[in-house]
Amino acid sequence: MQYDLSAHEVPDWARCEGKLSGYRLGGTYADCLASLLRCHNSTIDAWTMIVASCISTALALYILHKRANPVPVVAVWLSALIHMPWSVGYHTFAPISNDVCTRWMKLDIAFIFVSGALLAFGLAYNVLPPWGVAVNTLVAVAVAAFAIHAIRRAKTKASDNKVKTATFIGSIVLAYMFPMLYYVARGGRGLPVACAITALLALAVGAFVYCTGYPEAALPGAFDFVGSSHNILHVCVTVAHIAELLFVFGTAQTHRTKINLTTRQWFSS
Ligand SMILES: [Zn+2]
Repeated sequence: MQYDLSAHEVPDWARCEGKLSGYRLGGTYADCLASLLRCHNSTIDAWTMIVASCISTALALYILHKRANPVPVVAVWLSALIHMPWSVGYHTFAPISNDVCTRWMKLDIAFIFVSGALLAFGLAYNVLPPWGVAVNTLVAVAVAAFAIHAIRRAKTKASDNKVKTATFIGSIVLAYMFPMLYYVARGGRGLPVACAITALLALAVGAFVYCTGYPEAALPGAFDFVGSSHNILHVCVTVAHIAELLFVFGTAQTHRTKINLTTRQWFSS
């Protein structure tokens, strides 16, 4: 594997807009795994996802230790864990070849939708009546199935049409954010409301940097190794995930007691 290449030394498919140095090219899967321990322009992208999964596991264990209902906690925790290998794989194996890069990028994006379906179930569990949980989850599963089908057939890289990819991802984010927004709209208070606002803001910032490519779009070469839009996106997704786990923790107490939604109340509201 070649290290420390500049943007003009790698082919188009391996190039990231705004990154001028720190590229790898070629190598085997084993070489790429070894590159996790070296400094290049995707090291932080891979490690942010590994660290996010560790934080998620520690927080989920803490919440379970507090005797919260394990069903929604495990669903939200799994949403991070199930996506991590594919994201790390994409950011690690991409330099091998154009085909490998495209395959892992598609897997990375496809598993965002699998995560979204788990989140739609986990975030709804304490907030909506059982039929609401089922509908919310089914909507997310339908969006995920449609998106994954479109990703499999796509001929171009997702990064070639960032707005379209962000719109797709935004549609499943809406499905899984619905229980949080519903909780706020119903006059919820305290930790869950703070978590809903935090998750919403973090995802908005993440979508902004993903679509615009800031800050490296303004200062090409200045964020090759740390601080790129993709680094910021991963941090934003991690902050949103922590907020989502704490939302489940915060709503565990109110689960079908304080809000006490019955199907009849749902219809009469
Ligand atoms: Zn990524």
